[in-house]
Amino acid sequence: MDNELLVEIKDLRLNFRTFDGISKVLNGVNLKMWRGDILGLVGETGCGKTMTALSIARLIPCPPGEITSGQVLFEGEDVLHKTDEEMRLLRAKKLAMIFQDPTTSLNPVFTIGDQMVDIIGSRTDTSKASRLSILGGLGNLMPAIRRLRREAKERALQLLRRVGIGDAAERIDDYPHQFSGGMRQRVLIATALSGTPSLLIADEPTTALDVSIQAQILRLIEELVQELDLSVLLITHNLGVVAKMCQRVAVMYAGVVVECGSALDAFKDPKHPYTVGLMNAIPTYGTKKGEIKGIPGTVPNFLDPPPGCRFHPRCEHAMPRCAEEPPPQPTALAPGHEVSCFLYA
Ligand code: SF4
Repeated sequence: MDNELLVEIKDLRLNFRTFDGISKVLNGVNLKMWRGDILGLVGETGCGKTMTALSIARLIPCPPGEITSGQVLFEGEDVLHKTDEEMRLLRAKKLAMIFQDPTTSLNPVFTIGDQMVDIIGSRTDTSKASRLSILGGLGNLMPAIRRLRREAKERALQLLRRVGIGDAAERIDDYPHQFSGGMRQRVLIATALSGTPSLLIADEPTTALDVSIQAQILRLIEELVQELDLSVLLITHNLGVVAKMCQRVAVMYAGVVVECGSALDAFKDPKHPYTVGLMNAIPTYGTKKGEIKGIPGTVPNFLDPPPGCRFHPRCEHAMPRCAEEPPPQPTALAPGHEVSCFLYA
């Protein structure tokens, strides 16, 4: 990759304190994203995909979470060492996030317009109104706020139209329950893009939508990525979505990125036994009931994970050392294609 490095996560380890003990959720995550990258992050439920993404925005609740080691570099600066105000500005200006269920991301008692105006106002210039009030005296505060809200509403209308809500002027004063699921997700995409983000984190953005709406939302994200020159971290279970949208794929298992490479490598020539298992589990046209080869066993309990390679109880290639020591640092098999497994060390 010749582009500038945008995100680099190095050996990130995250624990959660629970009543039953310490859950070792991330166990040395390494991940890189370049500008213009569209990276799919895949793996079974609970493997740490969302925690990895949240760490970029430093949104992991600590406590009960505790980052025990590692770095999360965004544009070369470690977000783990930024002040709260620096992080607030970073989230407002550079990061956009959309989540799985648009219903829970919108407040049901405020109109779409009010919610968007509040967020856009806080992103464009939070201190503008207060500066104007100091310069011009308190008497000027209300007109200044009214003007800023008018400008923010105008911007909200532009964004709603851009994401395909044509009758935005009529719908902006509606409440979330008056929108369909697909339209609510469009609203969230519009709101997420109201800053000038360089990274869009999309956490299962289409899982809660029906199939035809999923395709529309993915097409919209693709258009916006091109138009705004965004990098995208796309978290999904759906390998079809990865094949359609992503240039690169990172495969996670039990809190570790086990393989990372181009989407072509992952689908045509997967190397890590877990990636091979995932690919073998994809049903193809004509697959009969019972013919899909799943991965035996289940994801380990993070309170008491297996020693050595966390995948060893499920791996058909496991060797004695796999149960004794953690797999080596990722080995580069080709430019940009890395695997963490004793088979390739
Ligand atoms: Fe399998 Fe060993 Fe590789 Fe783990 S390190 S995936 S157990 S071969």
